[in-house]
Amino acid sequence: MTASHHQAETRGDDAPFVSRTCPPWCVAAHGVQDGEEDWIHSSEPVMVTGMSARACMSIDPDTGAVDGPYVLLGESELTMDETRALGASLIELAGLDPVPGRDLG
Ligand SMILES: [Zn+2]
Repeated sequence: MTASHHQAETRGDDAPFVSRTCPPWCVAAHGVQDGEEDWIHSSEPVMVTGMSARACMSIDPDTGAVDGPYVLLGESELTMDETRALGASLIELAGLDPVPGRDLG
């Protein structure tokens, strides 16, 4: 079982709800930075043609407000939908038929 985003159920204990809960893919070291920087959950980076891509999301420890997840690719910030579309496009390119079948004329 992985800790999921469904952390909404209220428990009787006095833990400050979602604040210290990471998404299952988070590899960020928390507690070393102050404020908002420390709320950012970050995945293991994936190298894409010299750029790093990684998933990020932030969870406000006080309000539980969630921003993301989104994917940082180089300087760009992609939504999950945009990332899926990009991945699908790449897979489509990789799946092009390598067999010449068209007459060059
Ligand atoms: Zn985290």
